[in-house]
Amino acid sequence: MTMTRRFVSAFGVAVAMSVIAVHASIPDNVLVQQMVDQLATTTTGGLVTLDARQYYFDAPVTVPSKVTVCGQGQSTRIRAIGETGLDYYRLTGDLEWQRERFRVHIRAARRAGKPLVVHTRAASADTIRLMREEGADAAGGVMHCFTEDWPTARAALDLGFHISFSGIVTFKSAQSLREVAARVPDDRLLIETDSPYLAPVPHRGKTNEPAFVRHVGERLAEVRGCSVERIAELTTANFRRLFSIH
Ligand SMILES: [Zn+2]
Repeated sequence: MTMTRRFVSAFGVAVAMSVIAVHASIPDNVLVQQMVDQLATTTTGGLVTLDARQYYFDAPVTVPSKVTVCGQGQSTRIRAIGETGLDYYRLTGDLEWQRERFRVHIRAARRAGKPLVVHTRAASADTIRLMREEGADAAGGVMHCFTEDWPTARAALDLGFHISFSGIVTFKSAQSLREVAARVPDDRLLIETDSPYLAPVPHRGKTNEPAFVRHVGERLAEVRGCSVERIAELTTANFRRLFSIH
């Protein structure tokens, strides 16, 4: 929370907070609300994501109702479903369980009317295929911590998704990713920390913290030929619009 406030004042973002509820299946709204209330009572707003981790492969896979996810009425602070997606990195064997859960999460997002936070690693073709098959464009969302190529970014953009860059975009070896970052339209660009991981240069290798997201913004400004203030302005507007935070 302290770090979030530092980031807020450092980067001109009024509302930026993610409370992640890790749960084997998509939990009941009452349970989520309790966790959120405990963790976020002192904030005036915030982003709460519901993280039904796809690797709990023994969990039941039923699509929850809108009431299960959001509760009754308009008071929910749940802003998104995720992160979810596909990750084949260093995994072998039958990964159908991942695809099955990703499908359920996309359906849940559509049913709840909430955007998706999508993770994809070493699985871009299947990720895009499932997003198309399940109509993820009806939910919208963000490809978080994006590290894939331009065709993948383009396909996600065509589904109405945003593309979010983390500290990786500052790494020396990430030239091709910077080229992707240069091409994402202004109204679909987001930046993130993924802290405590992926600290940007010049803090690479250290524990990441939200305030360091400034370095991501600075690198993107350089690559896109604009000011860091402009990056702050447009990513803040995109964040607010995507997660309905006004
Ligand atoms: Zn991720």
